[in-house]
Amino acid sequence: MKGTLQPSFVPSKRKYLFCGDQEGMERLSSVIEKVRKDHLPFESFMVNGKQETDIARWMENQKMGSYLYIAMEWNRLTDVKKIAEECGFSEEEAQYIGHGERFINVYCFKCHQKMKVNSGLIHSCTTCLQCHLVLSISDHYSSLHESYLGYAATTGSDLS
Ligand SMILES: [Zn+2]
Repeated sequence: MKGTLQPSFVPSKRKYLFCGDQEGMERLSSVIEKVRKDHLPFESFMVNGKQETDIARWMENQKMGSYLYIAMEWNRLTDVKKIAEECGFSEEEAQYIGHGERFINVYCFKCHQKMKVNSGLIHSCTTCLQCHLVLSISDHYSSLHESYLGYAATTGSDLS
């Protein structure tokens, strides 16, 4: 999942839904301010101490035409995005804002294994755990593999 670091306001929605952890809510504060100021209908849901089933119940009770913002730690964001999708929110009806440490999947082009690495490693190298090939991690995200694609690292040829 890609997701973003900062939310952006999407106008003309029937209702605005804000779902996040403490830091996530702070990241959403500019959008929440805007919605308050324009007197638009909104609801917020703090996930701290809440179970995934509580989140699902809250989302299921929302009406069509609502726009959803979810802001929380990357680790939890993926799970909550799945819940949102199951509750019928499409990509066009939601924004996902992540913070904190992030792990991404890298897909080895050679042996087709996936592995988790820190997102800071995009544009640098890692070694495939299975075939031990040195992989260069690209910023090409494949939704088919739910991973960033790893290619064979070029060795020295591009050094001048
Ligand atoms: Zn491999």
